[in-house]
Amino acid sequence: MKIPMLDLSEQYSKLREEMIQALDEVMTSSKFILGSNVKQIEEAIANYSNVKHGIGVANGSDALHISLQACGVSEGDEVITTPFTFFATAGAIARCGAKPVFVDIDPTTYNIDPEQIESAITTKTKAILPVHLYGQSADMDPIIGIAKKHGLYIVEDAAQAIGARYRGKMVGEMGNAACFSFFPTKNLGAYGDAGMIVTNDDVIAENCRVLRVHGSKPKYYHHVLGYNSRLDELQAAVLNVKFKHLNTWVDNRRNAASNYTSMIQKEFGELIDTPVEAGGNFHVYHQYTIRVPERDTFQSYLKENGVASMIYYPVPLHLQPVFQELGLKEGDFPESEKAAKEAISLPMFPEIKEEQQKYVIETMKKYFSKN
Ligand SMILES: *Cc1c(COP(=O)(O)O)cnc(C)c1O
Repeated sequence: MKIPMLDLSEQYSKLREEMIQALDEVMTSSKFILGSNVKQIEEAIANYSNVKHGIGVANGSDALHISLQACGVSEGDEVITTPFTFFATAGAIARCGAKPVFVDIDPTTYNIDPEQIESAITTKTKAILPVHLYGQSADMDPIIGIAKKHGLYIVEDAAQAIGARYRGKMVGEMGNAACFSFFPTKNLGAYGDAGMIVTNDDVIAENCRVLRVHGSKPKYYHHVLGYNSRLDELQAAVLNVKFKHLNTWVDNRRNAASNYTSMIQKEFGELIDTPVEAGGNFHVYHQYTIRVPERDTFQSYLKENGVASMIYYPVPLHLQPVFQELGLKEGDFPESEKAAKEAISLPMFPEIKEEQQKYVIETMKKYFSKN
């Protein structure tokens, strides 16, 4: 048996006819940029996130960059975030000319540890950028409290967490703005790059809308330097077809996660850490991530036996060569460094079959009987 990390083929075969028709309608209309499909998905995602505005952009990385800039983040500012995330999180801060200031994670959830945020705040701090990693919301109440106390913006990196909830709130409605990615492998994936900013703030929304069209307002009059970063109609049409199924897919992911967890706990007990859904959280399992001793040997064994896995992420951002000038070193964020050495994500997608999950567990059993 071969178990891929993610298999989108069954999903496509179910949606194929509807998808082809939706794409055909766009091509027949010849309206490719900022038309009715974009408007429809912007409204749907804003609605889903309990906020007023959705602003479709070219990808999740641009969503972060544009929304930070829309909050006024610029040269000389500092933005607090986690070093244990995809590069784009801190890349977007640096793209604004601002400095990423890292705060270590809570090892049980892999998300930024709110207790360590206040000591990282300086007079230059402008915003906090929490990431809802692997599909689970960061611990937002204390973060919101700190932001209020110090007058900081919050931009949520919800790229991995569309549909996740925290104490009854949707991810996307807790910050001044929030960013989704519709990269094909995300829980709601387009057929190419796509992203969106959601916000309840009229001014931030307007700033984002202007920034995505070269800072143009009215058309051909430019007061700020913006970008060419739009969600296009073909991708929006794909997302409109898929969006109706998002909640079902989330349920299927949660079922698959709970299957994995009960099998792993039964077979391996304390040896393996399974994901922890923190109290009050509704985790959408973009990734199903465990911690294993001697992870790299474990991963090679899985690979030899046809089981895919991924390391999200092998190098924490404070140790990335491009951020060398920040002057950070090994030992600065011990929990992030430890997670980078131990965490491994197993195959996870809504259509994963119980036999496939069983095969993953059987392969793990064979490995641990030898090692
Ligand atoms: C995917 C992702 C992004 C970037 O999204 P793109 O659409 O690939 O640009 C940003 N942050 C996190 C945490 C992500 O997982």
